[in-house]
Amino acid sequence: MQLLNIKDLDLYEKKVFIRCDFNVPLDEYGNITDDRRIRSAVATINYCLDKDCAVILASHLGRPEGEFSEKFSLAPIQRRLHQLLKTEVMLAKDVVGDDATAKAAALKAGDVLLLENLRFEKGETKNNEALAAKLAGMAEIYINDAFGVSHRAHASVEGITHHFDDEHKAAGFLLQKEIQFFATLLKRPVRPFAAIVGGSKVSGKLEALINLLPKVDKILVGGGMAFTFLKAQGYDVGNSLVEDDLLDEALHIMDEAKRLGVKFYLPVDVVAAQTFSADSVIKVTSAQEIPEGWMGLDIGPATVRLYRIVLNNVQTVVWNGPMGVYEMERFARGSTKIGHFVADSYATTVIGGGDTADLIQRIGVDEEMTFISTGGGASLELMEGKILPGVKPLMVKEES
Ligand code: AMP
Repeated sequence: MQLLNIKDLDLYEKKVFIRCDFNVPLDEYGNITDDRRIRSAVATINYCLDKDCAVILASHLGRPEGEFSEKFSLAPIQRRLHQLLKTEVMLAKDVVGDDATAKAAALKAGDVLLLENLRFEKGETKNNEALAAKLAGMAEIYINDAFGVSHRAHASVEGITHHFDDEHKAAGFLLQKEIQFFATLLKRPVRPFAAIVGGSKVSGKLEALINLLPKVDKILVGGGMAFTFLKAQGYDVGNSLVEDDLLDEALHIMDEAKRLGVKFYLPVDVVAAQTFSADSVIKVTSAQEIPEGWMGLDIGPATVRLYRIVLNNVQTVVWNGPMGVYEMERFARGSTKIGHFVADSYATTVIGGGDTADLIQRIGVDEEMTFISTGGGASLELMEGKILPGVKPLMVKEES
């Protein structure tokens, strides 16, 4: 798949709209705890500034549900961008309101304007045509560098692209890198190829699991989603997270794995607690016999050993979703141990963004991974073989 390349555009002194993904985690004081996504966008922004462009940056942050909220303002992003770009970054008071449009219209070569949180506008997530037109009206060139939201048909990701012809839109460097990496990975993965899948729910990753089955040799399940599979097999899972409406689907996935010869691994033991809290009493139980009133919040030591053995001969690992509630120290051990093991291996190791990237950074092994994607959901959909709605309009059309 070839994408319209930013290097092929005539950018000199143009007004450029760059859709970025600045949806970074913030702590309770509003500090950015992981600025990987902001740092990853700098190459594209600097490239445009070097061509004397006036740059308009746009992103969402969190889920403000279509209205202004101080808590979701991009002010912390503006400050971090200022540090990283070493140039002044203006922040508009709104997205397409009077302030943003006036500031965008007044931009000169070398100026950088950051629009307020795109999701302050209800139309953003609805791919609203009028909003897309207003955003597009601010600039002469459109660049998508927001891999993390490219699986969403939103106004600033999909709708806006229809207002620019192929000479006036392209993928930024980050989007190019992510798409190319996954294309190469999936075309010829070095085998054995294992997927480690965790996180809270089966529902969010159901389709991914089904679509991954024909591609991988092994699947290792962890996190809350494991309990739906364990319960489907008839085991006692106590108060663990279970999606009862997906029990049949879970059985179907396990049958499919068997039919395709894919080795499907579930935890054999868990770290269980009576309450979902950081200071709760814990005990290790077998995955088949979690007592009533207890919930599994991490994989246990036997599972860690088993998964290490299973991963030993693997040449490619894709990991999406933590093995337990890693945000609480007591339930972070499984994810931490698997994280170190994967980092130490000589396999090609790929981390699907979001929580898994956060985890890998917290335990300090991010430098040892082959590739850390900036998009959890987007990378999963790519691995499912889907063409992302934000990427499709940027594909070079095949000559017929
Ligand atoms: P996801 O967004 O689906 O990738 O899920 C990530 C979340 O899953 C993290 O916030 C974890 O705390 C949570 N999680 C992992 N294991 C469990 C578990 N056993 N029970 C409940 N939540 C879990």
